[in-house]
Amino acid sequence: MTHKMSLGKNLLYEHPFRYLCPIKSRASPLFQLFNIMKNIVLFGPPGAGKGTQAQILKEQFDLVHISTGDVFRKNIKEQTPLGALAKSYMDQGHLVPDEVTINMLAAEVEARPEAQGFIFDGFPRTEAQAQALEALMADKQTQINAMVALEVEDELLVTRLLSRGKESGRADDANETVIRERIAEYYRKTDILKRFYKGQNKYHGVNGVGAIEEITQRLTQVFDLL
Ligand code: AMP
Repeated sequence: MTHKMSLGKNLLYEHPFRYLCPIKSRASPLFQLFNIMKNIVLFGPPGAGKGTQAQILKEQFDLVHISTGDVFRKNIKEQTPLGALAKSYMDQGHLVPDEVTINMLAAEVEARPEAQGFIFDGFPRTEAQAQALEALMADKQTQINAMVALEVEDELLVTRLLSRGKESGRADDANETVIRERIAEYYRKTDILKRFYKGQNKYHGVNGVGAIEEITQRLTQVFDLL
């Protein structure tokens, strides 16, 4: 693992073809030469800042950002049957059933064959989803490189989400009972996934409290090593 990581880093800075990489991009030229993907699960409870950080990091590392919450919200807006189903769970602060979510995620991945890697934001959220993601990546002859988790304590999550709700118009951010239920759901079904990735030596915890730029910097340090 260490050997692989340092090899990747050396090549990133010393490979003769590194200039193939666009200047603004920190994406590894290894991908361009050998089609190696960088796939990262950006993890954390609701309100940890996954969406905000993923928007920045996807530009920095030339990755495709998939947020399952965003895809559900798009379906709700477009009044699709999937949107109607998802809304009935989201309004309660509960998770959308695995089968529906997994199929949707797989379709989003399949829709981006050109991707040199993905940031998964809000997926996986259950053990079944984590297993499905392993299978999906293996099917593409690739893997999840890391779970990078934003760590924020619960009361700060509630404060952040209530404040976001005032601007975003998200129904599930406007109601404190729903917010607390989402956090409870996280501890019931999702937090356990840390163990799954720790078992594979792929877990990286990052302090998610501070200014947005500060947190981006902490995450960038981790992403650079992957
Ligand atoms: P988010 O935008 O990630 O906070 O997700 C908003 C809501 O969408 C969640 O509270 C769930 O109801 C639903 N959702 C998003 N991602 C998933 C997932 N991976 N599995 C099940 N439900 C999800």
